[in-house]
Amino acid sequence: MSTNKLVNKVVIAGGGTAGWMAAATISATIGRRLDVTLIESDAIPTVGVGEATVPSLLTIHQLLKIHEADFLEATNATYKLGIMFENWTRLNHKYFHSFGNSGMSCWAAGFHHFWVRAQQQKMAKDYADYSLETLAAEKGKFAHMQDPNLNYAYHLDSSKYGQFLRGIAEKHGVKRVEGKIDNVNLDPQSGHIESIRMESGQVIDGDLFIDCTGFRSLLLGEALGVGYNDWSEMLPANAAYAVQTQSHRPAVPYTRSIALDAGWRWQIPLQHRVGNGVVFSTNFKSEQSALDDLLQGIDGEPITDPRLIRFTTGQRKEFWHKNCVSVGLSSGFIEPLESTSIHLIQQAIIWLISLFPTDGIDTNQVNRFNQQMTVETETIRDFIVLHYHLQERDDHEFWRYLREMKVSDRLQQILNLFQNNGTIVEEQDDLFAENSWVQVMMGQGLIPKQYHPIVDMMGDRDLNMFMRQQENVVQQTVSRLPSHTQFIQHFLNQP
Ligand code: FAD
Repeated sequence: MSTNKLVNKVVIAGGGTAGWMAAATISATIGRRLDVTLIESDAIPTVGVGEATVPSLLTIHQLLKIHEADFLEATNATYKLGIMFENWTRLNHKYFHSFGNSGMSCWAAGFHHFWVRAQQQKMAKDYADYSLETLAAEKGKFAHMQDPNLNYAYHLDSSKYGQFLRGIAEKHGVKRVEGKIDNVNLDPQSGHIESIRMESGQVIDGDLFIDCTGFRSLLLGEALGVGYNDWSEMLPANAAYAVQTQSHRPAVPYTRSIALDAGWRWQIPLQHRVGNGVVFSTNFKSEQSALDDLLQGIDGEPITDPRLIRFTTGQRKEFWHKNCVSVGLSSGFIEPLESTSIHLIQQAIIWLISLFPTDGIDTNQVNRFNQQMTVETETIRDFIVLHYHLQERDDHEFWRYLREMKVSDRLQQILNLFQNNGTIVEEQDDLFAENSWVQVMMGQGLIPKQYHPIVDMMGDRDLNMFMRQQENVVQQTVSRLPSHTQFIQHFLNQP
């Protein structure tokens, strides 16, 4: 499937977060030698959710030379230190998945090994007490810090973020065409996309097409017929209701994820409002019941009408096919539990730039891209499945089904290794590092039976001191931090 047609003209179809992030990043990095056009329709709204992120967003912001204060102001963003999972393990239980490392310093084995031994000897506090991000989140505090470091991401207004990225893209010469796509024209011989015909009659040709048309997947799915791997059996959620509310209390620096009888709901605090939603499976819960859950759970007056969004969890069989690369929802959707979609958008863009087919599309580039995106998506999928699978809830068929279902061999191996002796084997392509897996597995009730033998090199007294020291550092550091909202105001008002 190699072509030696040079790639000069890039056409991005769709102007949601995926489209504008692709346009901004490509134009700001390799755009000088390219002609980049983005097509979007004012009549077809973006999905309008996607407001919680993970720390990797900071990397793309660095690449785009985004000044944090400009971004916070333009998107009404707040800081996010992690996710509070409520009622996931069992009712009236909660735990925090923070972005940081628990235990400030590590000695030979992961901190959780020390914690397991200390806990067996009744010298340990809750695992969360050794996490800076968790305590800061619980106390509603935040600041930029270096040593120790506070790891963070953002909550942002998705439509404002799209506009913000559009500004960057247009500054770097991206042309915007407004209107509805009417048809995707294929070359009869090669099967490559030749051009896009707009309803206005305008024809936009290109060498490389990036499909950012959201769930419609107009180019890769519809025109090129690339199939879909359906993951509904292990991730049965297939719908969400979303509504925005006024905020009437200070924004907390974390996302709330509250498990329901059959599904869960989110709360994402921004500077000016709160994003709320409920995620559910229509096989286990009616739309009306999900809507009732959402409206009963909100904390403030709605400022939008609740909106129903349907989806099928899974991923396209290929992310790059012929001369079309899909980025964003057009390539698949896991589900929003760990706020990973924007991260996957970034990864697709970064990999596309790394493998950019300047001198023509080559099978090796296409295969490498597809392998990479498949692995990254599947590792995230396993992490999400973990939350649903590892729990003790017995109050609804939904949870019983998820607990009893078969998970991937990889996830089963991770669970077995951890259960036996706390082992986590970090994988290079996994967004979630050791402490994420530890926090979620222990948060969901799986405590290792044994710890690594190297921990026994430390005597009881030293271990006790070590644990206290870790806890003290966390407490003292957090006590010096300003409140989250004070920090944002101060940061935005800096000259
Ligand atoms: P969209 O936003 O749907 O944009 C599609 C674009 O294509 C639009 O500009 C539209 O005008 C254009 N288009 C479509 N058809 C045509 C046509 N015929 N002609 C012209 N233009 C067309 N991600 C996170 O990272 N964190 C989260 O917390 C999170 N929460 C989510 C919650 C839910 C319930 C859902 C469903 C998703 C969530 N996501 C989240 C995912 C996130 O919303 C998306 O990854 C992100 O918004 C990117 O969407 P997109 O740009 O691919 O598609």
